[in-house]
Amino acid sequence: MDLFTPQRRGDKRVAVVTGAAGFLGSHLTDRLLADGYRVIGIDNLLTGNTRNIDHLAGNKDYHFIEHDVTNFIYVPGEVHFVYHFASPASPIDYLELPIPTLKVGAHGTHNALGLAKAKGATFLIASTSEVYGDPLIHPQTEDYWGNVNPIGPRGVYDEAKRFAEAITMAYHRYHRLDTKIVRIFNTYGPRMRLEDGRVVPAFIGQALQGEPLTVFGDGSQTRSFCYVSDLIDGIVKLSRSEEHHPTNIGNPKEMTIRQFAEAILEKTGAKLEIIEKPLPEDDPKVRQPNIEKAQRVLGWEPKVAFDEGITHTIDYFRNFLANEK
Ligand code: UDP
Repeated sequence: MDLFTPQRRGDKRVAVVTGAAGFLGSHLTDRLLADGYRVIGIDNLLTGNTRNIDHLAGNKDYHFIEHDVTNFIYVPGEVHFVYHFASPASPIDYLELPIPTLKVGAHGTHNALGLAKAKGATFLIASTSEVYGDPLIHPQTEDYWGNVNPIGPRGVYDEAKRFAEAITMAYHRYHRLDTKIVRIFNTYGPRMRLEDGRVVPAFIGQALQGEPLTVFGDGSQTRSFCYVSDLIDGIVKLSRSEEHHPTNIGNPKEMTIRQFAEAILEKTGAKLEIIEKPLPEDDPKVRQPNIEKAQRVLGWEPKVAFDEGITHTIDYFRNFLANEK
């Protein structure tokens, strides 16, 4: 069986994207198709949604397979890149789905590595700033080993991703597979799920629907938000580089969660209260990427200013809510 018509095979590079119907997987797919790749998207739709890939229906260079990558992954024909993005990724998702989160980080990464090895493909794992846990080094550099509570509620995600990094390096060292590891910091943009519990869709959804903004704790914890197109650009550059060790990709512009809530009220023009809710267990107090390595090795840095990115994102959610009603 061929996924793409045989006479056209060989003239374009083929990429497999797992988690292809998710926020990042779908944006990565769009970028690869725009760059002239063929893309095979795989997703079990546990947290992903076909709404994110509906626009690709009929695209001859795109093929979607509904499949859970914790089971053996079968893909016929040539594959040049495997981008492993499948995982629940928001704190409420991995709290509700602790075992699928551990399985996709462990079995899913093993299967995706096996596919890359069988095809002689380059492999990229979507890792996370969560590998640093509640960090004692600030901003976080790639050589910091992190401060993770392995048995806390976030441990299922943090340790799954730390295992994923470990097995990726093992395939690199033992099987000489061409592998890359990106540590993704908080990213935002269109196609995030309104209900995924993350602070960006939560605050924008609340502001647009006239509900008070729920700051967890006193809102003094910090995050640094990267617009999705910048993140995808960094990831694509990393996948085409010779860098095998983990690389942070994110926007170093740091703000407190309270400042973020105020910015959302200002940008949406909403006049609403900011209320405090209990801080979730092990919620990191600070987070900011040191991106000197990405600047030096990839010549990459974010370009989209917060004002611009957040305006696009608010517009997306405004349309989304208007169409839902
Ligand atoms: N947060 C919040 N209100 C919300 C959702 C999240 O104050 O309604 C906080 C959360 O406690 C954390 C930060 O915003 O400190 C970012 O949370 P998110 O779920 O986006 O992801 P995280 O960066 O913690 O992985």
